[in-house]
Amino acid sequence: MYYTSDDTPKGTVLESLLQLLFPMGTYCICCGKYVDITRPYCICDTCMEAINWGFITIDLEEERKHSGRTFYLDSALSCMVYSLHSKRLVFDLKYNKKTYLARPISMIMEDRLRSDETLYGFIESLDYVVPVPLHSERLKKRGFNQAALISENLAHRLAKAINSSSPRHLPCLRRNKQTIEQRSVTGGQRFTNLEGAFSLDPRYESNLKGSRILLIDDIFTTGATADRCARILKDAGASEVHLLSLTTGNYYLKGSFRPRGDEDFLSSIYTSP
Ligand SMILES: [Zn+2]
Repeated sequence: MYYTSDDTPKGTVLESLLQLLFPMGTYCICCGKYVDITRPYCICDTCMEAINWGFITIDLEEERKHSGRTFYLDSALSCMVYSLHSKRLVFDLKYNKKTYLARPISMIMEDRLRSDETLYGFIESLDYVVPVPLHSERLKKRGFNQAALISENLAHRLAKAINSSSPRHLPCLRRNKQTIEQRSVTGGQRFTNLEGAFSLDPRYESNLKGSRILLIDDIFTTGATADRCARILKDAGASEVHLLSLTTGNYYLKGSFRPRGDEDFLSSIYTSP
């Protein structure tokens, strides 16, 4: 179920060119060293060992207690703790335009959901996978929204896994203003920075009544951005909004983490139920 050489890339000319320059299945997507083609997600054994994997849940109740904010998100999950390796993945995707990384990232996310027994039934209950949006100017500059690439790929993979037409990728949110990058501002500023930042694309308004949504972002820090999105979705009638990120730098984490040298944990991530 994870990346293998027969899972050939498809998509834009840029993606094809990047595939020629940095072929998947040849170089580790974290460190760039040669990697055996059979390795999951095209990550070498050294990086695989160094990544702090986990069935991570961000403790929104603790975050609420300490920040004094009410959360609109129902839950927030992540696949790995923010570190040099996950930072490299996110930066390569966003800023080095390695759009092909959306595929192994969505595979990691799929495995995260499918190998956690507490989430049996969760995928079947989802209606939509919704990406956190980028402002049109940033989109123009970057050429793509990394969360949308991941969301589209993940929605397709999840629907295929359960042999269903849902969940469906639904890019229904708009970013109305060019906010300062969240990583550049501190605590309280993150919220004023986001005032009026998001809205719903009216074309999708009728889709959301009573829907269960998986919101996608690459990284979860304080949850300010994701929670603004959750509020818009709930105001439009969504019944549940859960966040899934590749990585998290949030302080209030709970769940099981991979103890060093615990190969059972790693194999449980790769093996779907
Ligand atoms: Zn590596």
